[in-house]
Amino acid sequence: MEGNTVSYWNKTAKKTEYPRLEKNLEVDILIVGSGITGITCAYCLAQKGANPVVIEAGGLCDGSTGNTTGKVTIQHDNVYSRIYKKYGMDFAKDYVESQSGALDFIRSRVKAESIDCQLTDSTSYLYAVTQEDMKLVEKEFDVAAGLGIDVEMIRKPDFPPDSIGMVALKNQAVFHPVRYVQALAKAAVSKGAKIYCDTKAIRVEDEDIKTVYCENGLVVKAKHLVMATQYPIYDGPNIFFTRLYAKRAYGIAVDAKRDWPDGNYISAGEPTRSIRTHVEDGKRILIVVGEDHATARGEDNTELHYENLIQFAGSLAGVNRVLAKWSAQDYETPDHVPYIGRISDHSNVYAATGFKKWGLTSGTLAGNMIADLITTGNTRYEELYSRKRGDYSSSIGKTVTEVAGSVGELIKSKFETTESIQNLKPGEGRVINFEGRKAGIYRDFDDHVTILDISCTHMTTELNFNVAERTWDCPAHGGRYSADGKLLEGPPKDSLKVLFQGSFSDLVVKKHR
Ligand SMILES: Cc1cc2nc3c(=O)[nH]c(=O)nc-3n(C[C@H](O)[C@H](O)[C@H](O)COP(=O)(O)OP(=O)(O)OC[C@H]3O[C@@H](n4cnc5c(N)ncnc54)[C@H](O)[C@@H]3O)c2cc1C
Repeated sequence: MEGNTVSYWNKTAKKTEYPRLEKNLEVDILIVGSGITGITCAYCLAQKGANPVVIEAGGLCDGSTGNTTGKVTIQHDNVYSRIYKKYGMDFAKDYVESQSGALDFIRSRVKAESIDCQLTDSTSYLYAVTQEDMKLVEKEFDVAAGLGIDVEMIRKPDFPPDSIGMVALKNQAVFHPVRYVQALAKAAVSKGAKIYCDTKAIRVEDEDIKTVYCENGLVVKAKHLVMATQYPIYDGPNIFFTRLYAKRAYGIAVDAKRDWPDGNYISAGEPTRSIRTHVEDGKRILIVVGEDHATARGEDNTELHYENLIQFAGSLAGVNRVLAKWSAQDYETPDHVPYIGRISDHSNVYAATGFKKWGLTSGTLAGNMIADLITTGNTRYEELYSRKRGDYSSSIGKTVTEVAGSVGELIKSKFETTESIQNLKPGEGRVINFEGRKAGIYRDFDDHVTILDISCTHMTTELNFNVAERTWDCPAHGGRYSADGKLLEGPPKDSLKVLFQGSFSDLVVKKHR
């Protein structure tokens, strides 16, 4: 799913197989997506006596959950100073309480279900390397302390190198995310849930009974539909199109040369650097994640993102060997608070998105909240995470600014320049002019080329080539396609149209005849 890289978590967990859906179904509750959100929701529902059905386009944890850093913490960058400023103390307190509840849920499930996922207590640090970052850190400390969070200010720390100060939040955790979700899925199934993989939802009809059409021609009818797919697969009230933007990030797992302190760290400023320790078979592994950028707007050579992380890991503890490298994306909202709940008043369609790379707690919370909404009609924190929260209207201006890039791409992309193909190297992709239209070309290592119509099938935004993953990525809403045009992830429903496939030499002759 994530191009030609595999995360450390997916590499080290034994793959669990679930069957694909083979017949039409009529169910009470359909959950689409088997990341931490969908599986937590299925588990909670099954525990309450419901029999939810989960369908998943790929395999369990194929999305961000399998490609995360695995920090389970309520320290979400400088979230508290941000939301306190925007929404005030009560809102910020509810945020702390709701996210802490999610952390407690994970701890309690690990115990109750005897889950072996290396859940380990860990202190979360938000650190500064510049005076500008230090102001953010100090502010976060003040607000967090005011909220009653047990935080400590550390000046001139020894680690990470170059840090000048950091705020520490004890009693947080790290885990192996794939092992956790696999075990929770198994527990959900034992309580009555059903999971089908390789079953992609492609269209939703939102009537009293929701009808979900799948790629394999099958249909699932459900009274309640939970979209645990990050970008919702159905946007009836048009709430998500201008209010979600995709951000990509990169990760590496490293066998390090030297020792380094325990704890999980994140930089307050740019470039983002997120650090944690994982212990596998008694050996300490250094995990470094970062290099965040809006999807399809990173370095031209995306390999550079990995090189930067490897260099950074080297500065922390030296690098013997890179054990895994991967990348993934998550969605953000204008005010950095997720959307969780019904997509419109009284609707039986539910979404959970905009986790801003903190979805291990927010997705857990979402799973719990949506299970409550379905079984009781209510849930605590509904307003906080609702799209209509607080003074939401005042964020609309910001929405437009922050997603202006996305919407602007729809227009700008139609006027960019093209290049010749003669010097195209194996493994390279680029935008060209092909038979009078703009297209995307990719040359593989067997000298075959594929030329694609690179208008995203979601909203026709022009795609950019991602060198590290060898994918075509959409800068607007994060749709991603393989080099031969197959849809990998994001809101689009269709793969790209192939304009030409053949040998590179044939193409060069054809083009210049
Ligand atoms: C690099 C990186 C590091 C991160 N680190 C952390 C961290 O340390 N701590 C933290 O709290 N959060 C972290 N996050 C965020 C966190 O990983 C995500 O927010 C969380 O995993 C989202 O879970 P999810 O279940 O909502 O989505 P996903 O895990 O993405 O699951 C969605 C699933 O839906 C499936 N799907 C999509 N469309 C369809 C369809 N049409 N039909 C059927 N199935 C479909 C996908 O295949 C996928 O399996 C990180 C994110 C990234 C990108």
